[in-house]
Amino acid sequence: MNNFEPVIGLEVHIQLNTETKIFCSCPNSFGDEPNTNICPVCVGLPGVLPVFNQRVLDLGIAVSLGLNCRIAKEFIFERKNYFYPDLPKDYQISQYMVPLGSDGFIEINSRKIKIKRVHMEEDAGKLIHTQNGSLVDFNRAGVPLLEIVSEPDIFSAQEAYQYLNELKLTIQYIGASSCDMEKGFLRCDANVSLRRQGDKELGVKVEVKNMNSFKAVRDALSYEIKRQANVLSKGGRIYQETRLWEENKQKTIVMRSKEEAHDYRYFPEPDLVRFFVSDSQIENAEQSLPELPPAKRKKFREFYKLREKDSEVLISNPKAAAFFEQACRNRDDFQNIANWVIGPLQEALNTSSIGFEEAKIKPADLLKIIDMVADGGLNNIAAKNVLAEVVNTGGDISEIVEKKNLRQVSDESSLEEFARQAIEESPKAVKDFYSGKENAIMFLVGVVMRKSKGRANPKIVKGVIERRLKNAQS
Ligand SMILES: [Zn+2]
Repeated sequence: MNNFEPVIGLEVHIQLNTETKIFCSCPNSFGDEPNTNICPVCVGLPGVLPVFNQRVLDLGIAVSLGLNCRIAKEFIFERKNYFYPDLPKDYQISQYMVPLGSDGFIEINSRKIKIKRVHMEEDAGKLIHTQNGSLVDFNRAGVPLLEIVSEPDIFSAQEAYQYLNELKLTIQYIGASSCDMEKGFLRCDANVSLRRQGDKELGVKVEVKNMNSFKAVRDALSYEIKRQANVLSKGGRIYQETRLWEENKQKTIVMRSKEEAHDYRYFPEPDLVRFFVSDSQIENAEQSLPELPPAKRKKFREFYKLREKDSEVLISNPKAAAFFEQACRNRDDFQNIANWVIGPLQEALNTSSIGFEEAKIKPADLLKIIDMVADGGLNNIAAKNVLAEVVNTGGDISEIVEKKNLRQVSDESSLEEFARQAIEESPKAVKDFYSGKENAIMFLVGVVMRKSKGRANPKIVKGVIERRLKNAQS
């Protein structure tokens, strides 16, 4: 294994979140009744003409720029011909000779991984296999895709994993796709070959398909690298083929060999005109790009001065990062706010199984909770209680605190009675305390916290108990 270096290239398809399909006005929406979002254009009936959706070009340019690509000033579409039951026209309208974007890169671990091309194309339909035969749903036919192809410039399974995460994040910040793999909005195929350390020439490449998560891509590549190294070190040879990742068995199996590879007979799509992209169009797109992960990381490090780990957690979720940044306006306790967003707020969201996008809480609400905890109006337990409610329902924080009777009890007189009861009911803890086990006092504090239903101020409780125990002793 040590004698070989893996070389990996990735081919990613993302589904663009436009309102309508790429060449007709059918809705681009997921999960509808089969064959309801179709028309003569997207099912390829005779005599129809495609009309290019301008929004696809806008998103394509934005993603290409976000991936540091050069934009083609003019382009055409081409027909990629093949027969498959989910492809009604028997060809897919795609881009071949001149892709929309080319020569880009994604930076991982201070290294630029080259991106060869970004091109626009239409999706095919979807086959659904049942016991009584196969059915086809054309709702997805004509949905706009971007295909993003890296150069064979990735040298480990882990690096492939990082590349995919950064690619997804970039697209999510641009807002071009949710990249939800479970819905098929992001699909990834990988090419992997091995060569002897120091060799310039690439080895025979194997294509791996059928990975349903970034982790599966990493696992499949790790497996395939080991398999190929094993074959080569025994003097065997690698065949150019397509292999499928079998998640259950954690191995790849042969799907088809090179002999069966397609010849797509590309030719220019005669039903669409040649398209031109002006300099001002590119300039405008560049100016309207949002802040992307590399710039965000720099800002989170240099301006907010967050711990790197916390910064990564926030940036990996664009909605969480936006929430954090809104909360930081007119404040300077950035790390404290980050702790609350990543800690108690994220916990409350997890408990309710909702994401930042569905949560009803506003940044101002979180700040109010933070400030109430700081000035003693709420303790941490009560704060979590309030968060659990406000993420689901929204509403005024003060009202929720009053309604749920959560205001922290800090005045000593109200706590005296709880402390008296706790001491009376816990002779063992009292004995332990007198015999020098200072920690026994925390047990008593816990009893008071329960009795006060979590509302007592634990610091003050501790003082009250300590004083009572010492007075009783003297
Ligand atoms: Zn249609």
